Amino acid sequence: MMIVIMKAEATMREKSAVIARAEDFGCQVHLSEGKERTIIGVIGNGRVVDREQMERMPGVERVVPILKPFKLASREFKAEDTTFSLGDHVIGGGEIIVMAGPCSVESRTQIIETAIACKEAGAQILRGGAFKPRTSPYAFQGLGEEGLRYLAEAREITGMPVITEVMEPAMVPLVCEYADILQVGARNMQNYALLHAVGESQYPVLLKRGMSSLIEEWLMCAEYILSHGNTRVMLCERGIRTFETYTRNTFDINAIPVAKQLSHLPVVADPSHGTGKWEYVASAAKAGVAAGADGLIIEVHLHPELAMSDGAQSLKPEKFARLVREMRAIAQAVGRDILS
Ligand code: PEP
Ligand code: MN
Repeated sequence: MMIVIMKAEATMREKSAVIARAEDFGCQVHLSEGKERTIIGVIGNGRVVDREQMERMPGVERVVPILKPFKLASREFKAEDTTFSLGDHVIGGGEIIVMAGPCSVESRTQIIETAIACKEAGAQILRGGAFKPRTSPYAFQGLGEEGLRYLAEAREITGMPVITEVMEPAMVPLVCEYADILQVGARNMQNYALLHAVGESQYPVLLKRGMSSLIEEWLMCAEYILSHGNTRVMLCERGIRTFETYTRNTFDINAIPVAKQLSHLPVVADPSHGTGKWEYVASAAKAGVAAGADGLIIEVHLHPELAMSDGAQSLKPEKFARLVREMRAIAQAVGRDILS
């Protein structure tokens, strides 16, 4: 792959000519219209485009080959942070977005009451799983479409956009009917058919890092989604497998600045799955903010002891409210803020 950086004064006609040349060679073209200049990504799966020839075309400033295995996800392809609007909020724009809610949607009243509590505590987006990827086939698998309907009702009441997990390609259209953001879970990070389907949907996607995945593998999975022209992708660090068993996972704080350096995509921290124990969620969340996360996703339950999944890592609303206040102070200390 190479990127063609157009001159600031390049005309539409000149840009079109570059695109046509790349397409003549059987390449895929990805346009990125920046504030100052246009960058044209040329992915060669056809004949190899002659780089020097391309450089001589009118309006072209320079042509740079992208050497990293992930292309569209890389900072080389796009230097500026990716931002996009969701409801009244901008994701990736410097202010940190907070997503909160139960691990699973358990009932209509549960999700509505939790949504109201999370919003009051300072969250902007409601999370809740209707299709749950459980380790055991005998564990609660989620309410399915009924759960999606309750999520949509909670959105209606609170105005909060909804994020929920989708586990298989065939379910993408159904989940899109109810959700604002599609969550691809850690266990499905490398489910390539699912990545193609969520990419094609053009819905915003939160891509969780697989529990034993390299950062590079995670970015390659984002690349699958981006390759469909779906630019609204968020990366989510949710803890990885290590030799330590005291906590459920080891929250890889390093992954946040690394992903921010390698990629322009917003990075979200999940301190709930990252630690697996509610006592440590606040510490990991605050560390995530200090490390540069653009968002957080946190499990909140009205009665964690009764939760049908992940009760041990769920915060009660009062604790979550205090955490949001503390995160705001940390965000401000590093020149950012939490969305309000
Ligand atoms: C979840 O968000 O409830 C979940 C199942 O997360 P993960 O895919 O990170 O395990
Ligand atoms: Mn969970």
